[in-house]
Amino acid sequence: MIGTAAPGGPRRLLRRLRDVMAGRGGAQDKLDRVVRLIAADMVAEVCSCYLMRAGDVLELFATEGLNPGAVHETRLGPGEGLVGRIAARARPLSLADARSHPWFAHRPETGEDVYKSFMGVPLLRDGRVVGVLAVQNRAPRRYGGEELEALQIVGMAVAELAAGGELVAPAEWLAPEGRAGLVEGQPLAGGLAWGRVEVVRARAAPGRLVADDPEAERARLAAAVAALRAGLDRLAARSRGAGPAEPADVLEAFRMFAADSGWLRRIGEAINSGLSAEAAVVRVQEDTRIRMDPAADAYLRERLTDLDELGDRLLGHLAGEHERRAAGGGGGDAVIVARNIGAAQLLEYDRERLRAVVLEEGSPAGHAAIVARALEIPMVGQVRGALGRFSDGEVVVVDGGEGRVTMRPDDVEIAVLDERAAERAKRRAFHLSLRGLPARTLDGVDVRLDVNIGLTTDTDRLEELGAAGVGLCRTEIPFMTAPRFPGVEEQTAIYRRILDAAGGRRVVFRTLDIGGDKRLPYLPAAAEENPAMGWRAIRVGLDRPAVLRRQLRALLRAAAGRTLRVMFPLVATAAEFDRARALLERERGRARTRGDPCADAVVAGSMVEVPSLLWQLPALLARVDFLSLGTNDLLQFLFAADRAAPETARRYGLLSPPALALVRQLADACRAARTPLSVCGESAGRALEAMALVGLGVRELSMPPSRVGSVKTMCRSLDTRPLAALLDSLRDSPADDLRPRLRAFARDRAVAI
Ligand code: PEP
Ligand code: MG
Repeated sequence: MIGTAAPGGPRRLLRRLRDVMAGRGGAQDKLDRVVRLIAADMVAEVCSCYLMRAGDVLELFATEGLNPGAVHETRLGPGEGLVGRIAARARPLSLADARSHPWFAHRPETGEDVYKSFMGVPLLRDGRVVGVLAVQNRAPRRYGGEELEALQIVGMAVAELAAGGELVAPAEWLAPEGRAGLVEGQPLAGGLAWGRVEVVRARAAPGRLVADDPEAERARLAAAVAALRAGLDRLAARSRGAGPAEPADVLEAFRMFAADSGWLRRIGEAINSGLSAEAAVVRVQEDTRIRMDPAADAYLRERLTDLDELGDRLLGHLAGEHERRAAGGGGGDAVIVARNIGAAQLLEYDRERLRAVVLEEGSPAGHAAIVARALEIPMVGQVRGALGRFSDGEVVVVDGGEGRVTMRPDDVEIAVLDERAAERAKRRAFHLSLRGLPARTLDGVDVRLDVNIGLTTDTDRLEELGAAGVGLCRTEIPFMTAPRFPGVEEQTAIYRRILDAAGGRRVVFRTLDIGGDKRLPYLPAAAEENPAMGWRAIRVGLDRPAVLRRQLRALLRAAAGRTLRVMFPLVATAAEFDRARALLERERGRARTRGDPCADAVVAGSMVEVPSLLWQLPALLARVDFLSLGTNDLLQFLFAADRAAPETARRYGLLSPPALALVRQLADACRAARTPLSVCGESAGRALEAMALVGLGVRELSMPPSRVGSVKTMCRSLDTRPLAALLDSLRDSPADDLRPRLRAFARDRAVAI
């Protein structure tokens, strides 16, 4: 029986550790005493501490029970042995018979062969593994969950000691990756900018780990939570007033997380085990990181970032910091360099000063990246060792579109950048001047320009953008950011808000496109090898009709007194559309019977994202009220090229003979059947691609809001007749990319691209 599994948790052990750590002696001496204490308290025959050295090597730093001669001698390479695996995966491991495990690495100098049972936890600091703490016993036994919990909590104290800098120099963990002039990462938000680096380091570790009065800690936590919520409310109110809508929507989701009782309950439990409120927050942060395997899933990774940010903010409030620094408060243009950044944190920076963001982590689907794109702040992620590479005050150029950061640019490079920035500002002013004008071509063809939106966006900006309406409202984002399925009423409120804000303009809602890599924690699904082609979108809706019906019910209710326009994603056969529409009609019937509020009329369409539909066009056109071509998915399935993988995403495109032939066939069939066709994939927002689409007869384009100005400018400078003739002549071209031909056409005819 291990002592800490007793009721009361590891509090007693923590107090003893505190005494050791606060006492006299050097760090090595303290670490030796700490492992002895842990072994005795946990009734373990062995307790060992390994610390990370440069090059991801784990060195045995202290042990009780193993051969003392192995200390500072035994070293494990990255991922080597059980200890190496714990560090590599940043996850704990508990085994009844370690020696028979395939990961076990035989190290005779330690004398550990006689110990069968093994339990180890990663020592985490600022999201990095700084070491591993392990206990062992001779008898084969499986350690219980409480014992693991205890070792993890104790591990926090050991990580503190390890991170003190006396045992291993911190530079070993933050080894600079070299100082080459050009640093590559992942493009997260496009645009080019330069400025001076402001490195945002993680918050300092809580000064006080152990607390004697849990009641007082709970009260401090409650006060900090109240301050956190009030701060988020203020920020949301500020964000809602001006600028694009996404930031406010992201914050909305974020506030829901802050109210998530599960997260707060776990912090409360950690306080009960003897930790201070600060240490409890950190403990839950680390624990969440361990539970959510960051490699597994983009959705979970994003939730992790949200929870991390909430945790950091809570720590700020506990420390009595009321408002976070606004871009460091310094002067001039700032480029933030950080391990990761939360959406709310990004919104707090002074927009006048913030030029770009460079992150060690970050992902395209992340909330911070969504906000950065909406605010047009260039962002580069996945820059290895960014915190160690850049120094405060140094000048860097960030190319968000290419995912590149240039260090020490010369004056000529900076002058070119300034010139480009001035051009961009001029272009923007020109686009703004077009907002009241139609997207009418020189030969009098009217093109309808809509925007794609996500989140619970208020659509106030349609007017300012000069857009006709919303051609694609991706409804999944509120589902992805919520801790559970939003109820019918919640959904109704979201959809109604969008319709109200659109003020009578057309809004096309797309039903849930979840599944695949957009997983919801509350909708379990099997792991898939090809998630993009897996159980997603309408497939989920048809297999789980209750989910789809609730969404349709909310949409019908929200559109009471108006026309509801709705479309279904990833339809592969006409029969699937029939089944989806039948659910819609059933919900309408239900509303009628019950006398519930309901849309006056319903217009239902299908997305064309799966090539199979092209071979069922007559049947499909007989059923739908409209079609919407999603080029993002359609191109990936047409060319069998993953849209998310950098090697394949740009390999094939719309401006190729097969893709243009497909668009032509679809546009011709829709025209003959008098069925409206819109194109709503990213291609619709690129001027050259949009030009080709118009040339092939497409008359409705829906695009990211920031693209409306450029596409309108293109339309207003285009004569479709010679373009149609050119496209006709290229029908049988053997080239795999017609971009040069189309670009030459645009140049010769002065089409603004
Ligand atoms: C598309 O596939 O083109 C589309 C618009 O849908 P999404 O990008 O949301 O998959
Ligand atoms: Mg799609």
